Parts: sequence; C-alpha cells; structure tokens
Amino acid sequence: MSHALPPAFTDILVVQAHPDDAEHGMAGTVARWTREGRRVHYLLCTSGDKGSADPHARPSDVARQREAEQREAGRRLGLASVQFLGRPDGELEVSLAFRAEVTAVIRAVRPQLVATFDPWRPYQLHPDHRAVGQVTLDAVIAARDPLYYPEQRRDGLEAYRVREVWLWSTDQPDVWIDITDTLELKLHALQAHVSQLGDWTARAERIRERARAVGSRYGVAYAEEFKRLVLLG
Ligand SMILES: [Zn+2]
Repeated sequence: MSHALPPAFTDILVVQAHPDDAEHGMAGTVARWTREGRRVHYLLCTSGDKGSADPHARPSDVARQREAEQREAGRRLGLASVQFLGRPDGELEVSLAFRAEVTAVIRAVRPQLVATFDPWRPYQLHPDHRAVGQVTLDAVIAARDPLYYPEQRRDGLEAYRVREVWLWSTDQPDVWIDITDTLELKLHALQAHVSQLGDWTARAERIRERARAVGSRYGVAYAEEFKRLVLLG
C-alpha cells in the first residue's frame, strides 16, 4: 500500500543541491503531503548559479532567476518555506562547516522526516548530489546530540531528533507513494523552472514515463519510491 505518514509527522524538511532537484525527485509525494496539511520545507544548498548554457551569463543573475523559479514552484506545491544556503553551485563538498549549516536548519525546523538524495547510489555522477546526501545524513546525526555544535544553542537551536530519513534517487527502494493524483501538479511545479525547461514536451513525457514505470511495480498509475531509514531511540 502507498505509505501513509503518521499524523504526528507535521513537518518535513527536503534538502537538495539545486533548484528543481526535489521537483524531479519527489514533488508528487510533496504535493500529497501538503494536501494532507503537513508543512513541507525546502532547503536549497546552492541557488544553481552555474545552471545556464550561456557562457556570458552572470552567475549572480542566474542564481537570482533560479531562486525566483524555485519560490514559484514552492508556491504551486504549497510549501511552508523555501530557504537557500547560497553555497556555490558545483562546489559542494562534504565538510564540517557545511554539516554545521544543515544541522542548524534541522534544529530550527524540527522536522520529523528529512528527505534528500541517496548518497550511496552507484554511479551518481553529480558531485553536489553526492555531497548533499552525505552531509544531510551526517547533519541528522549531529542535530540530535547537544554536544555537537554547542554554539548553536546561543541562537536558540536545541538538539533535535529526526525520526525518519527518506532518500530519493535510490536503487534500493523500500517504500513508495502513489502520485496518481499529484503527477500533474509535479509537472506544473517543474514548469516553474522556466530557465531549465529545454524541450519541455519531451522532458515531461520522460518524467511521466518514469513515474508510470515505478507505478506499474505497485499496481498504480504513477508512483515515486524511496529508501526509508528509521532512526531508533
Ligand atoms: Zn541537481
């Protein structure tokens, strides 16, 4: 059965590298959760400032446009918040400083569920996607114990224990969500990323086909699937 989150899961944090990553990875699921009245928050580690094919484009202009596109996609999905760390596109690395920033956001938002890339997916080429998945998991661990980044308490950020982590872009899925009712909204949210659309008709068909292939494994029209990690204790 399509996985139902407990009512106590009121806040969800989705951590991603670039504008449109989460729309591709899980917007059908996000739309279901916002329709259920849950608060879904997006954290963008970069603003996608290298996401242009124009060699004369100014990265700061690209970033500004893509932040606006991401906010519009968020509005269409009914997100509770969209925030940007502003790190340079293409330069994310697994570091303690980066981990501290994501830890602070987890402690501020206090989500029961965090979603991100599966950093262990074989042949994941994009370095930002690998780094975000790894750092987010490391931050989930750091967030729960007060002796990690104790200076964050000065900003009112107390230790916080996340209950579950869901990984998209995984080849080891063990949970799925029926997105038959929200696939069109996922596509509508993706269309907000005007600078990234390319051949939209072909792209939309690929996205639809992928969701159909996943759905066929579970007997529904369209689905998204995830690796689910349940944190004990
Ligand atoms: Zn990306």
